[in-house]
Amino acid sequence: MAKKLIALGNILRAILDRGSVVRPPGAVVENEFLKLCIKCNLCIEACRVAGSGTLERCSILYGLKKYGTPRVNPLRAPCEAVKGRCEPKPPCIRVCFTGALQLIDTSLIKLGSVVWIKDRCIAATKGGCLICYEVCPIPGAIKITKENTPEFNMELCIGCGRCVNACPAKPKALKLLAKGEKRIVI
Ligand code: SF4
Ligand code: SF4
Ligand code: SF4
Repeated sequence: MAKKLIALGNILRAILDRGSVVRPPGAVVENEFLKLCIKCNLCIEACRVAGSGTLERCSILYGLKKYGTPRVNPLRAPCEAVKGRCEPKPPCIRVCFTGALQLIDTSLIKLGSVVWIKDRCIAATKGGCLICYEVCPIPGAIKITKENTPEFNMELCIGCGRCVNACPAKPKALKLLAKGEKRIVI
């Protein structure tokens, strides 16, 4: 019985808070973000119309508090705040009137970082590909090893998601996480 209750508690905890999500550029620190974001979704609409279309609402699986707030989904599109169509004044930030997203020097943007899943990577398993290397806008974020596989530098990666979006492996060999993200402290 006790084990069942613990398992149920774990499931409920997972439903109520599925951990961190990758926020749009200029997002303030998470606890302030959750207070300031009114889930108006103007940033999502601005991204769809004038940006890349990467933003979407967090589903209920991200927990009640985060439900309806914006997140970057690189499977839809990469974020183009750095070296893309949104630089230097990202439309998502321009429309946010609550302060949840704030104008930031684009050279300071770091949305998170990618995780490489070697077993799924075409370059590591069959050879070739390296499309991630071709699309990455940040010098040094991806290097090619002697074995012709990609090597990711988590410090330099800005978490734009271009490599995740372009990865042709099925399932994708790259995942974008909020790990290492830099948020605005207010
Ligand atoms: S525009 Fe600002 S307040 Fe509205 S959903 Fe986006 S982050 Fe939240
Ligand atoms: S910077 Fe551009 S692409 Fe990135 S989330 Fe904002 S509007 Fe979308
Ligand atoms: S490694 Fe991927 S997520 Fe990181 S900066 Fe390069 S393209 Fe963007």
